[in-house]
Amino acid sequence: MSAPVQAVDDGVRALADAMLQVMYDEPGIGLAAPQVGHAIRLVVMDTRWTEEGADRSPTVIVNPEILSREGRIVWEEGCLSVPDFTAEVERDEHIVVRYQDLDGQEVTEDVSGLRAVCFQHEIDHLDGILFIDRISRLKRSMYVKRRKKQLRQEEEPASLGT
Ligand SMILES: [Zn+2]
Repeated sequence: MSAPVQAVDDGVRALADAMLQVMYDEPGIGLAAPQVGHAIRLVVMDTRWTEEGADRSPTVIVNPEILSREGRIVWEEGCLSVPDFTAEVERDEHIVVRYQDLDGQEVTEDVSGLRAVCFQHEIDHLDGILFIDRISRLKRSMYVKRRKKQLRQEEEPASLGT
């Protein structure tokens, strides 16, 4: 469990900036502070921006809390912390979420679809949960096997060469 952010200060703002940089570089649509080694309840997101397209419209989210949930939705998810793997995950389709922005102001958002999925995915990170924890054991074990094989191959010295 990540600790609540006590005050939105320059340190938090600098970390949020650095996280946005990482997110856009990857590229991704969301990143949580624990993914970059900070166990605090801070998330950055940009669900409109894509690699090709629209202008950046980042949201910095401090101490998010889901107030209500409705409906179910299945979305193909990926994660910067789970390389080269996507899977369908079932989540709440429509949520109301409350958080603080970078000025320490309280914001309430009523979201659905991709943005609702992204909020739940990132809040899971704050609680130490990955999307692969929410898929079937079979699918997860397939991923773990493949990933172990990949890591073994990376460890082995290159077999080609002069
Ligand atoms: Zn993730």
